[in-house]
Amino acid sequence: PAGKRVAVVTGGNRGIGLEICRQLADNGVAVVLTARDEERGAGAAAAIRRLGLSEVMFHQLDVADYSSAARLADFIKHKFGKLDILVNNAGILGVTFQFDDSDLEKPIEGKSANEALEWLSQQTVETNEHAEECLRINYHGTKNAVQALLPLLQSSPDGRIVIVSSIYGKLSFFSGDELKEELNDVDKLSEERLDELAELFVDDFKNGELESRGWPAKGDGFVAYKASKALLHAYTRVLARKHAPSLRVNCVHPGYVKTEMTRGTGELTVEEGAAGPVTVALSPPGGATGVFFFRTEPASLLL
Ligand code: NDP
Repeated sequence: PAGKRVAVVTGGNRGIGLEICRQLADNGVAVVLTARDEERGAGAAAAIRRLGLSEVMFHQLDVADYSSAARLADFIKHKFGKLDILVNNAGILGVTFQFDDSDLEKPIEGKSANEALEWLSQQTVETNEHAEECLRINYHGTKNAVQALLPLLQSSPDGRIVIVSSIYGKLSFFSGDELKEELNDVDKLSEERLDELAELFVDDFKNGELESRGWPAKGDGFVAYKASKALLHAYTRVLARKHAPSLRVNCVHPGYVKTEMTRGTGELTVEEGAAGPVTVALSPPGGATGVFFFRTEPASLLL
């Protein structure tokens, strides 16, 4: 209906993304829940509608697939003629865990959230293929969705892009000052340079040059995930600067949330985790852009 804001959420079939869809709909937004798998996505949208939130519809989107993003943009254009909110939530951890999930409770029993995360990070295998896939979905996939939907966001009187990132993308995980400075210097960075850095990361990963370049250390785990989220933080700021003030672009760490990604570990429920991205998506006009939020609060990317 006229007057309703329209939102697209990526990776909306489960976890934090599903709950972001529910909360946006609960706040009167018409939500296009997207997922790469038709059946999982359509089922998730139907489940939200059964809660009485009728304005949630499904459309397929594999963020890493350019033609899929173009089809979504075409659908939004014909159905609504504009897009007000894009929540880039889809993401992968980019590792294989070395434990059997059914054994999980024992090793993490009695551990704090940080200890559980530390333990999890030590149980991973991260191959070249993992690293490539992680950058392809988290970094390039996000950019792909943004690029396809940008013209429609520009047709909104108050367009917003929210990128669900992670504290793992903080530059404090990087060891090299030069790389840190480059990723932090939004005035000199460009989207082209970020693409080059994404490619460089994958090459450095394959060639065993992570440490010498200053990327996060391999022994600490989730290397590609950290690199992909750091690139997304820089991308957020580059995009925000380019499109200010007509479009607002922010990134949000949702907290450590119990989902499939964290194998049910985490300190927050999905309801609590979705609150950050939803608050930023629905913040009053004229607010922050190019900012990193730790849940609902602006925070530093360096410390
Ligand atoms: P889940 O693993 O539970 O869900 C991830 C979602 O992303 C799924 O819907 C998945 O779809 C989707 N997805 C993956 N690849 C693609 C793709 N190519 N195209 C479209 N969708 C895709 O993770 P969470 O809900 O925990 O995470 C959501 C976001 O929050 C991620 O970006 C994550 O990095 C971030 N985050 C999560 C934290 C946590 O503690 N959980 C902490 C910090 C950040 P499918 O079902 O098809 O695989």
